[in-house]
Amino acid sequence: MTHDEGARAVCEAGAYLAARGLTPGTSGNISLRIDGGFLMTPTNASLAALSPDELTVLDADGNRIGGRPETKERDLHLSVYRVRPDAAAIVHVHSTYSVALACLCHPDPADVLVPLTPYGVMRIGRLPLARYAKPGSQDLAHAVAERAAESHAILLANHGPIAAAPTLAGALAVTEEIEEAAKLQLLLHDRQVRRLEPAEIAALRG
Ligand code: ZN
Repeated sequence: MTHDEGARAVCEAGAYLAARGLTPGTSGNISLRIDGGFLMTPTNASLAALSPDELTVLDADGNRIGGRPETKERDLHLSVYRVRPDAAAIVHVHSTYSVALACLCHPDPADVLVPLTPYGVMRIGRLPLARYAKPGSQDLAHAVAERAAESHAILLANHGPIAAAPTLAGALAVTEEIEEAAKLQLLLHDRQVRRLEPAEIAALRG
């Protein structure tokens, strides 16, 4: 993908996430593989109104070669790309229900999703919890890299979700699906629910 095609796609994705209320304030960031490197949303930017020429341009090693200074969560994105060569786009947000789920204690950090709906299982798969680390730190990049091989979607403890996919549309869809799954899980947390059975989950995963 060329720089110009990618830049248009990232700006549209930012507006899409903002319109759905998934990026409070200046939170949230998006990255995309392009020819020769990556595009990334800049630091302290509202995703609602990005312009293509302010996006950060990084070379294949993650060094800035153009645009505004990158998000301080750059290394979070780069660590997922390193572990997942299938990833061409990454979306990370601080959306309310996903963050709420990220603040709960989870007995099984390998998968914090309760299997409630077939689409949650099919579109997200597993949602492992990455241990807490300070935003912007190398420690957080390491914590996410430890989980990235297991799943294209990861929940950062006390922070929010990150979703990787072969396309930007795919990463957006997974991000929305995580938010909806988290919302359902929190709405139902104190009720007796019918979980999908292991055989039903296996059939969905094919
Ligand atoms: Zn964040």
